[in-house]
Amino acid sequence: MTTSGHALVGVTGPLPNAHFISGHWCPASDGTRFETIDPSTEAVLGEVARGSDADIDAAVEAAHHAFHGAWRAISPADRGKLLLRVADLLEADIERFATMETLDVGKPLKESRSDVRGACATLRYNAGAADKMEGATIPLGRDLVDFTMLEPVGVTAHIVPWNYPLGMVARSVAPALAAGCTVVVKPAEQSPLTALAFAELCHRAGLPDGVVNVVTGYGPEAGAALVRHPLVRGITFTGSVETGRKIYAGAAAGLKPVVLELGGKNPMIVFEDADLDRAAFDALDGAFGNSGQVCSSSSRFLLHCSISDAFLDKLAAGASRLTVGKGLDDPDLGPLVSAEQYDKVSDYLEAGHASGSRLVVGGGRPEGLARGYFVAPTIFADVDAVHPLAREEIFGPVAVSSTFDTANEALSLTNSLGYGLVAGVYTRDVSRALSMARDIDAGSVWINGWFIGGVQAPTGGIKDSGIGRERGLPGVRNYLSMKNIGIRL
Ligand code: NAD
Repeated sequence: MTTSGHALVGVTGPLPNAHFISGHWCPASDGTRFETIDPSTEAVLGEVARGSDADIDAAVEAAHHAFHGAWRAISPADRGKLLLRVADLLEADIERFATMETLDVGKPLKESRSDVRGACATLRYNAGAADKMEGATIPLGRDLVDFTMLEPVGVTAHIVPWNYPLGMVARSVAPALAAGCTVVVKPAEQSPLTALAFAELCHRAGLPDGVVNVVTGYGPEAGAALVRHPLVRGITFTGSVETGRKIYAGAAAGLKPVVLELGGKNPMIVFEDADLDRAAFDALDGAFGNSGQVCSSSSRFLLHCSISDAFLDKLAAGASRLTVGKGLDDPDLGPLVSAEQYDKVSDYLEAGHASGSRLVVGGGRPEGLARGYFVAPTIFADVDAVHPLAREEIFGPVAVSSTFDTANEALSLTNSLGYGLVAGVYTRDVSRALSMARDIDAGSVWINGWFIGGVQAPTGGIKDSGIGRERGLPGVRNYLSMKNIGIRL
């Protein structure tokens, strides 16, 4: 029942060609599978089960049974203890998980290790929240007692992308479990491995059968079946705007609450009084970390015209020092996740070359890498604000820059897109920084830093970038429904 791609042998153990449902490895009900690829080499890593309606039905039924049975019988404090145990097991298994992630999506090992540590932190934060989600008493008058109870919504669906396969699973599954829900996860078809291993780890940690289930497969098949399943009572989706719209429509048909964490085209606004070294350091990390495949990447530099050249010189020098290579060799940048993503980014590069913009650095495939989906860190300057390069999420190591004269101009460029995920403001003027933060249309505004946040800080987008917030206590509330109880004395 198992196949192992050669790269996985001896590293992660044999690959189960199966879903993880109710504590067991379950092959696809119709026996079908699909391949998962190592993007550093384009070699097949192995095969996973291709989920269909019947597999989703089995997983949701298992989750429904666990929700009304064994999981409900466990107190919130004990749920927290189980999540802590999952975190401990994951931490002890960091090398296996990190290697699996690197093989599956290509990211450098150091980034994969950091993702595993992040998942442990997420589990621990939410473990602590499990017994702290309190209701309120409502003052209706002397003869009435009224209070609210927070109850888990039931079975929740978690549809995740490939850029942080384990991290995105942990980000929504940990709070759902803390709240008392049971879950069905549909990982991205490009990156199924760590989600499966995570489910098996939860089982080993002692979570009852059916609490964490994973069905692998394609979005329009397994993903869509999960969204429409009548026993699914909440949906958390992280992915593209295009798919987010479909999920929202599907959720509306079933009147299910959703959290949608979608894309971004995030401006880093650098004023003339900014600490340019700090901003350039952050810009490189923000634009090229995970090869730019980050929803909150600093993909759009808006530079005050007086510092634009100096700033771009710093970026060009920094970017040309970045190494690109196979994830297992731990370079600064690994490959893109898939041939499809490579083609998409290559199309943007071609559009950039044809646009008349100034190529500052990169611009194509790095030398010496014959196979694998590699793209050199690239910056195009003086990009016209209406060009797709400046408006669309590229999701690769390709950043664009343009200039502004006044704060109002920077603000209007910032708010001119449909996206509203993250923006960054670099200035030493506190009033200007906070005025910009007030007026920017985004779920997060970062001042003099990039990737500011953590498991405690709520994150999410407005406008096309999504609905709802994850992380922090709002992240747990996504999985709780409020019941009001009134008593006449
Ligand atoms: P995607 O939308 O193509 O796929 C995401 C998931 O949705 C996958 O599991 C896929 O199989 C599934 N899916 C696809 N079609 C579906 C359908 N019709 N019904 C149900 N499920 C379906 O996104 P992607 O390319 O995997 O991820 C990249 C995108 O994710 C980028 O836009 C990025 O900005 C976004 N993202 C956002 C955040 C955030 O926190 N806002 C975090 C990470 C990634």
